[in-house]
Amino acid sequence: MLISGAQKLERMRDGRIVYIGAERVDDVTAHPAFREGARTVAAIYDRKADPAQRDLFSFEEDGERHSLYWLRCRNRDDLVRRMRAMKAIADMTYGFVGRSPDQVAGLVTGLAMDAGLLDRLRPGFGQNLLRYYDYARRNDLYLSFAVTPASGRKSADLFPGQQRDDPNLQVVAENGSGVVVSGMKMLATGAVFADEIMIGNLTPIDDKLKSEAITAALPINAPGVSLWARQPYAQHARHEADYPLSYRYDETDSVLVCDRVKIPWDRVFLHNDAAMSRRIYIETPANCYQNHQSNVRFWSKMGLIVGVASRICKANGIDHIPAVREQLGRLVSLEALIGGLVQGQIEAWEEWPKGYATPNRRIMYAALNWCQESHTGIVDTLRTLLGGYPMVMPASIDVVTDEALRDRFERWWKTPSIEAAERHKLYKLAWDIVGTEFAGRHMLYEKFYAGSSIVVRNQSDREAPWERFHDAVDRLLAGIEVPDANG
Ligand SMILES: Cc1cc2nc3c(=O)[nH]c(=O)nc-3n(C[C@H](O)[C@H](O)[C@H](O)COP(=O)(O)OP(=O)(O)OC[C@H]3O[C@@H](n4cnc5c(N)ncnc54)[C@H](O)[C@@H]3O)c2cc1C
Repeated sequence: MLISGAQKLERMRDGRIVYIGAERVDDVTAHPAFREGARTVAAIYDRKADPAQRDLFSFEEDGERHSLYWLRCRNRDDLVRRMRAMKAIADMTYGFVGRSPDQVAGLVTGLAMDAGLLDRLRPGFGQNLLRYYDYARRNDLYLSFAVTPASGRKSADLFPGQQRDDPNLQVVAENGSGVVVSGMKMLATGAVFADEIMIGNLTPIDDKLKSEAITAALPINAPGVSLWARQPYAQHARHEADYPLSYRYDETDSVLVCDRVKIPWDRVFLHNDAAMSRRIYIETPANCYQNHQSNVRFWSKMGLIVGVASRICKANGIDHIPAVREQLGRLVSLEALIGGLVQGQIEAWEEWPKGYATPNRRIMYAALNWCQESHTGIVDTLRTLLGGYPMVMPASIDVVTDEALRDRFERWWKTPSIEAAERHKLYKLAWDIVGTEFAGRHMLYEKFYAGSSIVVRNQSDREAPWERFHDAVDRLLAGIEVPDANG
């Protein structure tokens, strides 16, 4: 089933508990902090549901149509179709919404490609996952996930002797009908707009912390669930022209707080297995499917960044200077690079698990690492090209509402290549990429959404064919003779 934007907005009015500081938000679709973000999500649903876009965004299975990101690919063509759908979704937000509905869906789809693994851990868990996968795609669900301990403690021994409640999300009771969880988890990006949230562990946890090893799905409005939002950036953006990205594309991040939340067994996919609570993502295509989307999304973001850089240089009249063109050439080559890394994952696809197709894992992790380590430098190049001009723009576009100010603004703030109001929007857009709170949050997002660099590089280390590389060294060295005592 494919639902409309209006239906998606209706689902967000389900009594979910969201806090901005002490303020309880009654309706995220109406509150100024979230309203435009909710509309952005609704626009994605409308576009997906448009019959004219049916082939781009959906596939048919068992007589029903589902969003393409739920496709368990069988071959290269499937991977191409799935990637195109994700690229079109990412282009709708210029790559600035990381956890769009296709992101966590990739994780569940990847798990559903080898649900037998969960059944081997405890009979029934795999079937639970498969039923949930089917339920989610049939209902066009938007999933978010919180899989990181928020306490700053990842091992049982890190803070020995610490006297405080243990805040990490964990099972505090279980009975025949399910488990009860309490505690907090970071950082549920997009959850205020989502339908459900997956809990689990993406980073390794200590074996002593078995009660935290719970992987399950719960509705955002489940009794006992609340979302504690960080500062929303749209709330104080009165005019879109002053904050073109903050205004519309703040996907939000919240701490998930659970107070004795009941989860029925059929929503539980793993329990009491600390090591496997992370490994299920890397021993199935879950992590790869999910982060392939992240690479595709970064490709869209690069498209906007290079476009803004070029427009800015033109507006400043520096676009013809050879040294500036060299910088633009470097930037645009990086846009092509990430595009190539995405395409390469598909060309070098793996048949894994048997009968299914997965983007090439090594290239996917290489791209993930490249995005993580390059984003700051890319944004800094844009900042450098900007010069001090963002500070020249007035505090607000509302200057144009005053006739006298408007006249001066329009005459003095324009350049030979761009009118004043257009220049204002352009520089404010650039500032939303390099300087605002929204921009700062994106610096953090690109560094951490897939885990710290240690976690991301560990994935490449694990997947590397070290034997092949060692063999090359050994072959070369084997051909070199060591001189004997006679020289
Ligand atoms: C904007 C944003 C959105 C996010 N969205 C989500 C989401 O939707 N779902 C979700 O589950 N999580 C989300 N996260 C959380 C993310 O998964 C974590 O931030 C990430 O895993 C890093 O964990 P941490 O923040 O606890 O930092 P830490 O793991 O504590 O790392 C902090 C720093 O310490 C360094 N460090 C840690 N251990 C070592 C060591 N042993 N040796 C040397 N250096 C070390 C790291 O490299 C890093 O620089 C989000 C984070 C951000 C910033």
